[in-house]
Amino acid sequence: MQIDAYQLHRHAWNRKLLNTYWFLVMIQLPFELLYSFTAKRDASLTSGHLIVSVLTMILILLMLETTNKFYKNHLDYQIISGGAILSFTIIFFNYEINLVILYLLLPIFVSIFYLQFSKIIYSIGLSLVSFSILFLVKLRLLADYTFIDLLTILPVLTIISIITFGIIKRGVEILNNLQITTELKQELLIKNIIMDKLSKTDALTDLYNHITFHEYLDELIVQNALGHFCIHIAVLDIDNFKKVNDTYGHRAGDAVLKNVSSTLKSHVGLNDFVARYGGEEFAIIFTEKNTDVVFDLLERIRWQISQMKQEELNGQSVTISIGLSEYQPGTSKELLFAGADQSLYTAKKTGKNKTIIHTAPLKEVR
Ligand code: GH3
Ligand code: MG
Ligand code: MG
Repeated sequence: MQIDAYQLHRHAWNRKLLNTYWFLVMIQLPFELLYSFTAKRDASLTSGHLIVSVLTMILILLMLETTNKFYKNHLDYQIISGGAILSFTIIFFNYEINLVILYLLLPIFVSIFYLQFSKIIYSIGLSLVSFSILFLVKLRLLADYTFIDLLTILPVLTIISIITFGIIKRGVEILNNLQITTELKQELLIKNIIMDKLSKTDALTDLYNHITFHEYLDELIVQNALGHFCIHIAVLDIDNFKKVNDTYGHRAGDAVLKNVSSTLKSHVGLNDFVARYGGEEFAIIFTEKNTDVVFDLLERIRWQISQMKQEELNGQSVTISIGLSEYQPGTSKELLFAGADQSLYTAKKTGKNKTIIHTAPLKEVR
């Protein structure tokens, strides 16, 4: 996809161009006044020409302002046309001043801002039409100019047009290069984000992986030393999963792992952290919840899983056993895990499909 150079900040640029026109009219005013009283002024123009010229210019600007307010999308050609009429008016009323003819370049320069060839061609066309009319009605009356002198405007316009086309080509080229670079950068950024996610999550279940789990827990324990808050970890293990694999196949086992993972994810809060800890073993870190709340939540999860008919197991369900342990400030992560593991072991030994809270105080092994 190529950048639409023309659309970039288009409305803002139209506003700037309109402001420039107002500025132009304002600086033109004192000059008009000055020249009204010079001897060089064409006698037929002195009386009232100033008012007509200024009123024409203000009228054009007011029309452009109206379009800008109500039909923003159709303003571009009108701004170029307005520029052409402004320059026509200025030249018409001041044609005796030698360099005033340079105002013919105004619409061409304005059209450069749109970075579109069609608008350049339009503005050149307008300048040529303006020139022809001015030539017929005013310029040819000038004594110091010959017909040939006046026609020199044509090669000047041609050169300016060629330069203008060149500027636009260069501008569009730079914009396109810029866009390619930006797209490449974005692609790289997205790739980095995906890579980052891949390195942190488990491909099958989309849960956080073992390493990320430990990094997060380490971080939490550091934070806990600064200001105490509740940390619980639960270790969850699918019961008799080997049998599931043996009976229904590894693929069916994978599907069950995914279903169980989704249930875990959908039950925990935003502050909790679910990971696939190992094969059919999961771990959850709960923060800022008391033991009763965590236990109730785990029991809900356990019950929900035991009620879920697993399609891949011909409607059979699986159960999970859970060990829960609360972090004691000042102790170690290993001790926390040992507590949860011990409780899980107890749950398995005493019939599975249950949640056991670790209670016995554990001594740190040194
Ligand atoms: P227990 O109730 O005591 O936990 O028994 P179990 O059969 O669940 O435990 P065991 O440790 O004997 O078996 C775990 C099984 O989990 C063995 C392994 O094939 C299976 N497993 C581990 N990872 C995956 C996996 O990614 N996909 C599938 N389908 N099976 C897996
Ligand atoms: Mg198991
Ligand atoms: Mg296991």
